[in-house]
Amino acid sequence: MPEFKHITVPAGDRITFCAGRPVVGDHPIVGRITGDGIGPDIMRASVRVWDAAVEKAYGGKKKIAWCEIPVGEIAQEKCGTYMPDEAFDAIRYLGIAIKGPLTTPVGGGFRSLNVTLRQVLDLYACVRPVRWFKGVPSPVKAPEKLNVIIFRENTEDVYSGIEYRSGTPDAQKVIEFLTGKELGAKIRPDSGVGIKPMSPYCSKRIVRMALRHALEHGLPTVTMMHKGNIMKFTEGAFRDWGYEVAREEFPDTVVTENDLYEKYNGQCPAGKVVLKDRIADSIFQQLLLRPDEYSVLVTPNLNGDYVSDACAAQVGGLGIAPGANLSDDVALFEATHGTAPKYAGLDVVNPGSLILSGVMMLEYMGWKEAADSITRAIEVTIQQKTVTYDLERLMEGATKVKTSEFAECIVKNL
Ligand code: NAP
Repeated sequence: MPEFKHITVPAGDRITFCAGRPVVGDHPIVGRITGDGIGPDIMRASVRVWDAAVEKAYGGKKKIAWCEIPVGEIAQEKCGTYMPDEAFDAIRYLGIAIKGPLTTPVGGGFRSLNVTLRQVLDLYACVRPVRWFKGVPSPVKAPEKLNVIIFRENTEDVYSGIEYRSGTPDAQKVIEFLTGKELGAKIRPDSGVGIKPMSPYCSKRIVRMALRHALEHGLPTVTMMHKGNIMKFTEGAFRDWGYEVAREEFPDTVVTENDLYEKYNGQCPAGKVVLKDRIADSIFQQLLLRPDEYSVLVTPNLNGDYVSDACAAQVGGLGIAPGANLSDDVALFEATHGTAPKYAGLDVVNPGSLILSGVMMLEYMGWKEAADSITRAIEVTIQQKTVTYDLERLMEGATKVKTSEFAECIVKNL
């Protein structure tokens, strides 16, 4: 075990990984990053729900040993830095952690703590399941038809941070190089320039993860979302590399959409998954018009950013959307909203996003019974219309409850 100065690792089973999957004992040690702003309020409420669900599902046989990892303002106070190196070591050592939101420190030397965590731990997949909870107000007629899980590539594309400001010597150099005799591109000399790198390595590993997820969960399709008709050698290549992974690594279990009609008469054989692709702009229409034709979406970084929020909005769930950032041997689950500083310490906000991220975590750990019971209890609680202010203001006849009371209602409904 690495030496920690500010972290106390409790007694319990260390989670290890085998071929990208966690090996979890009955008393796993799980990292917990409380977060800033409303973080303590929602973490307290969520831990109450997770622990109660595990206790109820397994009658005390299983229990999580929580290990508090200081990151953000708590770490600044305790360790003199927002992001202590030992926080990375602890997350790597424990394998699985869950976090509340973190404030981006102004002038703290970090672009964003969240981005730093993803980059340092190479959490290459941002995973967002999106489904509707009965009773949640939605802007569409049949929100229940959308039930997808989005695998967004997390490390490259326009997020690589390779950008040159208009009018700077660096931008000029890049423009001169691109417009020179050799490459002959046409670019206005006063342009700002951004670079969009996409590699076979990163594209293949995200498609591989999405295909594995679909196969392990018996989901019917995986759809690659890309703008390959315009960006042929980045987004188009993403699609081609995705089909390559399917051919090379899943020859017996993945069927392309072409094969589906040419070889199988439009009927996917049992136990197989269909891999298809759709152009980015059309997928937004499709998800509104024929949402039930999609189950797993796999996307490059920027497309994934857009489509995850669009899907979450469609089910009225932006405030309760859960998420995870995964690599092959580290999994960090997280609330998808920010620190909402004006509500910090007031015990009023919705803990749903963090609670549901914990549901993803329990599923990932193989503790499906506990995960399912929380999902059901949230459904019942929302249908009983006992909800926090954000949902109460949108629902007719609802009773407004505090963060902690909402958690208690869920616990009662487990
Ligand atoms: P925000 O914290 O998500 O809050 C924006 C608004 O969203 C809140 O004022 C509130 O709306 C609503 N909201 C957010 N979480 C809620 C919850 N749990 N329950 C009910 N309503 C909720 O976004 P922000 O104000 O742009 O960002 C604040 C800080 O968070 C920044 O420092 C930012 O860098 C950081 N941030 C962190 C993460 C992360 O850690 N993953 C993500 C995003 C932002 P109403 O006021 O209308 O009720």
